[in-house]
Parts: sequence; structure tokens; C-alpha cells
Amino acid sequence: MTSDTDITRGKNDKTAEPERGRLFIISAPSGAGKTSLCGALMKHFDGMLYSISYTTREPRKGEKDGVDYHFISKDYFEKQIDAGTWAEWAEVHGNYYGTSAVLLDKAIASGNDILLDIDVEGTKQIIGRYPDSITIFIMPPSLDILRFRMESRGADSKEVIERRMINAEKEMSQKSIYKHVIVNDNLPKAVAELISTVEMYRKGMRGKA
Ligand code: 5GP
Repeated sequence: MTSDTDITRGKNDKTAEPERGRLFIISAPSGAGKTSLCGALMKHFDGMLYSISYTTREPRKGEKDGVDYHFISKDYFEKQIDAGTWAEWAEVHGNYYGTSAVLLDKAIASGNDILLDIDVEGTKQIIGRYPDSITIFIMPPSLDILRFRMESRGADSKEVIERRMINAEKEMSQKSIYKHVIVNDNLPKAVAELISTVEMYRKGMRGKA
């Protein structure tokens, strides 16, 4: 008997390569709505894995180790840089963030698509290592609106907001390295656009909705 999985992976065809998972990379400045968009994407697509990053920053209220991030020490992170553990890594807002190369390679080899929520520097490294990655940049409608969203969230000090604004401008100026740019001026519209963008690459695979 042949299952669907056998057919898509060409198991009975000795000449066919097994289907490989795709990397979907989403980047956005803080306050552009990336967390909501990534959440909606994960909810919509069956079989999409989420790459849980490693970070040296402190967990925020409500964040769980091994769920939101793997929270590790600076010393351990730096040892792993030397050991070549990271597929990409970057220093963002004064903390290290990195993606495990073993995890990505396993997901790709097993045929599972995987979503990475990483910054622009990390994206450049992933493009160098996995040139077929599907890269998506989320734009806020304007810098003023971004500032307004960060201020009304009330989570960050004035100084942190200024630093994030400078970083946002820098990241937005590099959006042309991404294959797709989605402007989040309306969340349901941006979610629909993101889902249809991802769907183009997952043709033949079923979404949940
Ligand atoms: P936050 O601390 O607010 O969760 O994330 C700060 C920034 O770090 C975000 O832009 C996020 O996309 C980025 N980031 C999270 N994980 C990684 C990672 O593994 N690698 C890189 N390069 N950036 C990451």
C-alpha cells in the first residue's frame, strides 16, 4: 500500500530525491506585529515547525524556557559560537540570539517546513547558507505609527524605544534583500497576505483553515 507521504516523497521512485523542508524567514522591527503574524501562520498550517531560538536575554514575564526561547548564559552562547553550533547568530539590542544548525538541518531533511523569526543580520547568514529560503519582511505603516505602538504598549523605557527606533530604521532600509514585503497597516489583511504568500510555496499541502 502506498501512503500520501510515500507519494510526495517519491519513496518508490529510486531516482527521486526525498522532498526537503523549506525555510520561511520572517523579520520585522519591534512593534510591527510580527508575533501576532507568526502566531497566525503557525495556527493556519499543519506540519509547520517553529524554530525556537537560543538567547542570552532574560525571560520576559510569561515567557517559558524551551517554548518562547531557550534561555542560556552568555558564556555558553560564546562557547557554541566557537563550536560552530549556530546556523546564524546575531547581537540584537545588547543580547545574543542564535538558531541551531542541527535543528534546521534535521527539519529540512525530514521534509518539514520551518518558520524562523530572526533579525536582518541573521537572515543574511541564513540566505548565505540556505539560498532557497523564503524571506518575508513585515513593514509597519510608518515610523510614527511604530513609535506610537511601542509607546502605547508601555513595556519599554524611553531610552529602549529610541534604540529600537534606530534599529527599526536600519532594518527597514534593508528590506530589499527579502523576497516578499508585507505592510502591516491592518492585522487581518496582513495575516491573509502572509498566509497566501506561504501557501504559494506549499502548493498541494493543506492548511488547517
Ligand atoms: P525579542 O527579544 O524582542 O524577542 O527579539 C528581539 C529581536 O531578535 C527580534 O527582531 C527577533 O526577530 C530577533 N531574534 C529572535 N531570535 C533570533 C535568532 O535566533 N537569531 C537572530 N538573528 N535574531 C533573532
